Amino acid sequence: MIDDEPPAIPHRKLAPGKLVIASHNEGKVREIRALLEPYGIEPVSAASLGIPEPVETGTSFIANAELKARFSADLSGMVALADDSGLCVDALGGDPGVYTADWAETPTGRDWALAMRKVEDALQARGPEAGRDAHFVCVLSLCWPDGHVESFDGRAEGSLTWPPRGTIGFGFDPVFVPLGSDQTYAELPAEEKKRISHRADAFRKLVAAVF
Ligand code: IMP
Repeated sequence: MIDDEPPAIPHRKLAPGKLVIASHNEGKVREIRALLEPYGIEPVSAASLGIPEPVETGTSFIANAELKARFSADLSGMVALADDSGLCVDALGGDPGVYTADWAETPTGRDWALAMRKVEDALQARGPEAGRDAHFVCVLSLCWPDGHVESFDGRAEGSLTWPPRGTIGFGFDPVFVPLGSDQTYAELPAEEKKRISHRADAFRKLVAAVF
């Protein structure tokens, strides 16, 4: 039989050294730093280099992750790692999804308590039969200064709880209960979230490909 699969293109390897974390979200930066720790990488935040946040014009996680990584790689001349992620609620047709951060916007900055309340209200509006299944998605994109990009996606299944519980973490952590647990992401020790999260899932694929 003729094998007409195109040959697999090898992933580009990431050399030890400085890497820009292309995010201004402190929660994400903290988690990405912890994930990178064993790999001889020196993470530098975009904020510390004075690199602003680009406007996220993409309509998919991968488009926004690549856009953010490319923006920081262009401005810094270094390899950049970006994260685009969000919460997808089945009964809301996958919302807020790519627009998760937008649900928190207020004239004075992002308000995550408000965003969690908006999701809960939308779910309640669907009636008592609406399921509470949800998942987090994360796409991690690495961009080199020559424009080469590698992207990896991760996912974590779970369900939404109300009211919010726990103080660890960020964003929607207090309402997300990962599958198999009875604690929210915001109640789990950081080490446990690092093992089971959507970000950890994407990072495992990145490690297998580029280290
Ligand atoms: P963006 O990737 O900058 O568009 O923002 C995605 C938003 O999704 C974040 O600001 C968080 O509110 C939410 N999000 C993504 N990952 C997590 C997580 O691990 N825990 C809680 N919320 C998250």
